[in-house]
Amino acid sequence: MKDIDWSDYSVETQAIRAGQQRTHEGEHSVPIFMTSSYVFDSAQAASLRFTGQDPGNIYSRFTNPTVDTFQQRLALMEKGERCLAFASGMAAIMAVGMSLLKSGDHVVCSRSVFGNTFLTFQNYFGKFGVETRFVELANLEAWEAAIQPNTQFLFVETPSNPMMELVDIRALADIAHKKGCLLVVDNVFCTPITQQPIALGADIVVHSATKYIDGQGRAVGGAVIANEEIIEKYIYPYLRTGGATMSAFNAWIFLSGLETLAVRMKAHCDSAFALAKWLEVHPAVEKVHYPGLKSHAQHELAKRQQNHFGAVVSFELKGGKEQAWKLIDSTQMLSITANLGDVKSTITHPASTTHGRMAPEARLAAGIKDSLVRISVGLESIEDIKQDLLRGLGDA
Ligand SMILES: *Cc1c(COP(=O)(O)O)cnc(C)c1O
Repeated sequence: MKDIDWSDYSVETQAIRAGQQRTHEGEHSVPIFMTSSYVFDSAQAASLRFTGQDPGNIYSRFTNPTVDTFQQRLALMEKGERCLAFASGMAAIMAVGMSLLKSGDHVVCSRSVFGNTFLTFQNYFGKFGVETRFVELANLEAWEAAIQPNTQFLFVETPSNPMMELVDIRALADIAHKKGCLLVVDNVFCTPITQQPIALGADIVVHSATKYIDGQGRAVGGAVIANEEIIEKYIYPYLRTGGATMSAFNAWIFLSGLETLAVRMKAHCDSAFALAKWLEVHPAVEKVHYPGLKSHAQHELAKRQQNHFGAVVSFELKGGKEQAWKLIDSTQMLSITANLGDVKSTITHPASTTHGRMAPEARLAAGIKDSLVRISVGLESIEDIKQDLLRGLGDA
């Protein structure tokens, strides 16, 4: 196989070709290496491998050719130097915290992050003497004011779930670097097709491959992308010891997911944009939250920072929880589930599911009203999605 430097190619091509090392069998598709261990030619060869003097496979907790192909491919796509795969998105976030933090350290985190990310920082790192300050996502002054001398990193998701709010990644990276800390971006909602945080100044990107990277709702996985120093010094030793490894089988599923990611993301985002515009003028709808709309407060930032506007649309109905639940229960095709990033469209009521454990005042402060409905727009016909919603929205 020709040794091609894929870094000069576009992200669509990298997603299909990068990282593969063909074996002597000449296979076209990436094979699944279901082996836990590897053999060495001699005692000396084994010793050189274990001390790292000879690069190569040792044990599939931390070295596996299928997983390695996935890692190399995603690293290039995210414009990072190196990627390590994990068993889930949460395992990837846990790895960042476990490897970079120690007792007495401090983290500043967006208030609008995935529920389990909030709990990881609050309950688990908190238990070991790491304090986390949660700040309003879009408020750059609040981020800067929350940073302390012992702050190790800022952690952010943009756009946020379910309100689709953004933060200026470049501005936040500048603030972090001025104060001597790192910026970590959870890029699950966008994927490298839609947004490349490292190119905007972020230091670490984390992923849940479970969402758009798989794209068909089959497997759970995650990844951390950063420069060589951060990976080699912090993340890799943690993976090798901590063991929250991605299986070769799941890496193979995610590799085939990456191959179609660019076309899927474009189609997801086009449909979401069309749906947002359609909902915005429907008389039963009070307000639509989607960065592609001119009515979105950060529309200009979204145009600058993202290649597409995302595939999640949230909207408030006229009325309250009753109207929201009625709409959800009237659908016939949409899946009632909080999952996202699937070819199947999903519909959810954030206030009573994903954000149901929050105190009602905190939930309202975050803008998550009882009348809010969130749709992760899939790849079914947009006309069928609209028809399904019309059952509960009613015709104009
Ligand atoms: C799902 C999700 C995660 C966690 O990923 P898992 O693979 O489910 O562990 C983290 N961040 C965001 C934004 C997510 O949507």
